[in-house]
Formats: sequence, structure tokens, C-alpha cells
Amino acid sequence: MDIMCSKCMEPWELSHALEVKSWGDAEELEDWVFNGKQIMACPCCKHQEMPPQFSPEQEELKQASDMLHDLLGDDVDGIASELEDFKLLMRRGPQ
Ligand SMILES: [Zn+2]
Repeated sequence: MDIMCSKCMEPWELSHALEVKSWGDAEELEDWVFNGKQIMACPCCKHQEMPPQFSPEQEELKQASDMLHDLLGDDVDGIASELEDFKLLMRRGPQ
């Protein structure tokens, strides 16, 4: 299951992100910003000056992700699983 970077929307394998957060050395952690278990910046965006540009779909997904982090806090498994559902719904489109 993936969890997304809150800044650039890059999907990260949940276990990998948490591993870096818990066990990463200083050099590795240099590329990441965490807020609790939420990824605030990742190696894809940490050192970029420009804010990333999102498509409307990505924007919607980002809002959903931010909302889930607010609602579920540190329950990143729950967040990742809810996001999977949300992505499926988006792909299916309005009924
Ligand atoms: Zn990022």
C-alpha cells in the first residue's frame, strides 16, 4: 500500500517511508520531512524550489489525502487503504 507525499503527491510504499522515518540515518532523513507519520516532503520534492503542478484529479486526491490525515491522524494503514478506495472510485467516475 502506498502513502502519498503531501507536497508533491509522489506515492511511497508505506513500509518504506516508515522505515526511513524510524531507522533512516541522518543522510537519508535529510531528504524527508515528516509530521507524525504524514510525509510533508520527500526526496522528489524536498530540494525543489518550485511548487509542483497538479492536474484536477491529483488536486482532488491531494485534498482527500490531507483530509484523511486530519481525520485518521497516525493511522497511516487506514489512510493508505482509504486512499486506495478513493482512487478506485475516481477511476470509475460518477455513476
Ligand atoms: Zn514529495
